[in-house]
Order: sequence, then C-alpha cells, then structure tokens
Amino acid sequence: AKVTRLGPSPTGFMHLGNLYGAFVDERLAHQSGGVFYLRIEDTDDKRYVEGAVDVILKSLSFFGIHFDEGASLGEDIGDYGSYTQSMRGPIYQCFVKKLVSEGKAYPCFLTEEEIAEIREKQEAEKLNPGIYGEYALCRDWTLEQVQEALDAGKPYVIRLRSDGQPPQEDENGKTTGKRVQVKDAIRGTLDMPENFMDTVILKQTGIPTYHFAHVVDDHLMRTTHVVRGAEWLPSLPIHVELFEKMGWEMPVYCHTAQLMKIDEETGKKRKLSKRKDPELSLTYYRDQGYHPAAVREYLLTILNSNYEEWRAAHPDAPVDDFEFTTEKMSNSGALFDLNKLNDISKDVLLRIPAAELYDFLKDWAREFAPEYNGLFEDRDYMLKILDLGRTDRKPRKDLIYARQIIDFVSYFFDDLFRVEDEMPQEVPAEDIPKILRAYLETYDHADDNGAWFEKIRQIAVDLGYAAKPKDFKKHPEEYKGHVGHVSTVIRIALMGRAQSPDVWTIQQIMGEEMTKRRIEARLA
Ligand code: GLU
Repeated sequence: AKVTRLGPSPTGFMHLGNLYGAFVDERLAHQSGGVFYLRIEDTDDKRYVEGAVDVILKSLSFFGIHFDEGASLGEDIGDYGSYTQSMRGPIYQCFVKKLVSEGKAYPCFLTEEEIAEIREKQEAEKLNPGIYGEYALCRDWTLEQVQEALDAGKPYVIRLRSDGQPPQEDENGKTTGKRVQVKDAIRGTLDMPENFMDTVILKQTGIPTYHFAHVVDDHLMRTTHVVRGAEWLPSLPIHVELFEKMGWEMPVYCHTAQLMKIDEETGKKRKLSKRKDPELSLTYYRDQGYHPAAVREYLLTILNSNYEEWRAAHPDAPVDDFEFTTEKMSNSGALFDLNKLNDISKDVLLRIPAAELYDFLKDWAREFAPEYNGLFEDRDYMLKILDLGRTDRKPRKDLIYARQIIDFVSYFFDDLFRVEDEMPQEVPAEDIPKILRAYLETYDHADDNGAWFEKIRQIAVDLGYAAKPKDFKKHPEEYKGHVGHVSTVIRIALMGRAQSPDVWTIQQIMGEEMTKRRIEARLA
C-alpha cells in the first residue's frame, strides 16, 4: 500500500497544479489501499494565513478529493501529527542537533552582507558557481570560535556539511564529478551531479528550510511516494544527501510535468501564469460553474496518456475504475487547453440526468450567483429547458458550465430576456409588424410542429416571400426573402436571438401566455 501526501502552502490560493498533484496522490494511494494525507507546508510564510486550511479542504473536496489523514479543520486526523510544519519546530530541531553532534551539519554565522560580498567576489573572479568552500567559511570553526559567536549573540543558520565535491574540469576541458542516480516513477532513472553545497537546513528563526522539512516529515509520516512538481528536480541531489546523512530510506519520487498552455498571442507553449491566466486558480472553475466531474475527467486525460482510450471503451464507468499508472504520465509539459476541457464538459453534462444537473446548477447559483436563484423556483419548467439544451442542440450550443448555461436559457425568463440580434435585413422594416400581427392572429398553441410551420409558410407567401429558400435563391428578383427570414423575425421577437433550438418546441415550453406576450411586446 502506498502512502502519499499533498503539501500545499497555506497562501489561500489553490492552483491547478495543486489539483493535478492531488489527483495523482489520491489515485496512487487509494488504488493501492493506502493512505493519502494533507500536510500544511508553512515554513516559508512567517504568518499562517487565517482560513487557508478551509480553502484547501473546500476547493479540493469540491473536485472529489478527500484526505484520510492530516491537517483538518479543528484537530488533526491521524497519528503522525502535527501535520502543520510550523507546529513541528522541536522535531526538526531535535534532528538538527543530532546531525550537528555527528559532525554532519554546523552552525554558520555569516551575515547576509558577507554572503553578498562572497557572491560578488565569486562572480568577479569567475569562480566555479558552486558556492561550496566560500559559504563554508564556518564549516571548520573550532568549538571555541562557535562558542564565542554564540556568546556574542550572533544569529546563525545551520548548514549541511556536504560530502560532495564541486565538479572539476579535466585537462580536456571536460567537466567531471560524481553523479547520483535516483529512480523516478514518472521519469525513469535520473542521473544527476551529486550535491556539493552546504545548504541551509535550519533558518535563523529555528524554522527548517523546505529541504529539511521534506526529508524529516516524509520519513516520519511514512510517505512512500513523493509526488511534486518538476521545479523540485534541481534540488533532488540535496535530498539524496540529506536522506543518506539521516540514515533513512528514500521515498519513491514522482516529479510531475509542469502545466503549460499555448499562449494566445505568440502561439508558443508557456507556463500558466497567475497574472495572465484566470484558469490557473481553482476558484475559477467553481465560480464559472464547471461540474467537478468534467474537470476531473479532463485532468485525467492530460495526466495519463491511455485515459482517453479507456474512457472511449468504458463511457459510463466510474473514473475510479481506471487503473492509473505513473509510467503513463507525461514528463514534458502537460498541455492545458480550456477548449478541450469545454468539449469534455459537454459530454459529461450530457451523461448527467437533467434532475441532477438541475440540483447542481441550483447549488452553484446559491453560492456563486444568488441573483439567479429565482430561475430555480419552478423546477419542472427548468427541467424542460435543460432537457431542450440536451436534446435539441441545433445550432450546436451545448451546455458547458453554469454561467454559460444561464446565458443559454436566459430568454425563458422575463427578468433575463434581452434582444441581442437585429432583424434580418431581407425583411423591410414595415413588414415586421405585418408578420407579427399575422402570426398572432393565426397562432394556435395546440398546433403540432407541422401545422404551425404551414401557417408561417402561408404568412411568408402572403407577404411576398418565397415558400422555400431555394426558390428565393433561384429567383431573387421575384421575392423579398424566404420563409426562413420570416421565421427569424418571429424567433427574434420571442427570444431576442437569431439562433436557437426549434421555435415550436421553445413555445411549447414557454407556454401560450409568454409566447403571445413576447410578440405583443415587440408590436407595441
Ligand atoms: N510546499 C511545496 C509546494 O507547494 C510542496 C512540495 C512537495 O510536495 O514536496 O511546492
């Protein structure tokens, strides 16, 4: 059984990468009957953001991600806590002391200014950028020197005493140096230069750096699989050395691909950015009203290369039946495409029964768009409208997410009704009241679709329009336009738009009273 964890920082901002990683964690753990836990990684933030855990739990549970263990609202769940790094100070300090006493780590009293100076000198003399040696000015201090600095109250950090050697150039100009091999479940065996830096493991504040907290926590919390973003690959050699110094077995690493998108302006692949791409934030999907199943479904398609094939073969199977494997994950940039998500969303919504869709939209409105609450008062009416959106999709205007669905159905509600399109130019202005009046006079709500359309054809012919579009195309000089133009006039009067599903069907849903009222309003 695998033990995985998600380690978000409590910034109050949850991004797509968090969800992407969480899916992998969740699948790996639960497919193997293991444990998936939540750890709050707040070593970088001086201050704990109020309510951040709430945001993390809420935004993930919306997408069906639940933790077995870890930080939670109120008390931690599980026996390996605290699951909040800022509460684990004594644990880290205890292991740091052990390393120091074994000579594997040491206090360093260099000030920021001194480090900056060293850096400058290094650059000026074009020294090996490996900062080993330079930073390590304190590594060989005697106990007396250390004691003196401590007595003087000088602040210090604790650095790892690396055993690594900076790479050297041999006589042929080739860089040589020891390398380490690490197995990555997504990327295969990684071959990297060994660490040679005396990395800070404990900051002046007594708070560990990411590197040290990662090693200590993932060991003590018995993580078997560390799923994290590719941005951590360069620090992997540090972690290899830290695990070795601690005498602990390494977990299996799974470095996921960065989420990329095609930039609209340049057409090139780039990372998603918080500033430019609202879709990076998980809030975006809830606010727009995407169904969580659609987002989940989409993420799986970019996560596992064989998912789409599996889905095509098992259209109705629950996603959890899919056997997820790290080997099938992409290790170059995973391409995120909102249009593709929208396509998947259309399919997902079509598979959901109308009643369920109704409940989903209603809940969404209550939380994100209370101005639309009224739309859900008449359940039967809304169910009919939603069914129309699912069955009659000509022109193809499928349901994608709640905000777009509200727009799609808006003309069924007087409060939201607005005229969006102009009357067709083939119809002279003076004909419009004539058409509408004739329509009102002949309108019979009991007509079937065929009888209804015959009446429109008659109105068209009476007013000098061709009964068939092709007649008009063949002899444009004989007609003003054709029956399609006449029915568009009625469509716009009823719905305010030139494109919609079948007019007769819409009228059946709207009812006689609303139908007549809309036509009359246009005549007034
Ligand atoms: N707190 C880290 C981050 O947000 C977690 C990385 C990890 O999972 O180890 O990037």
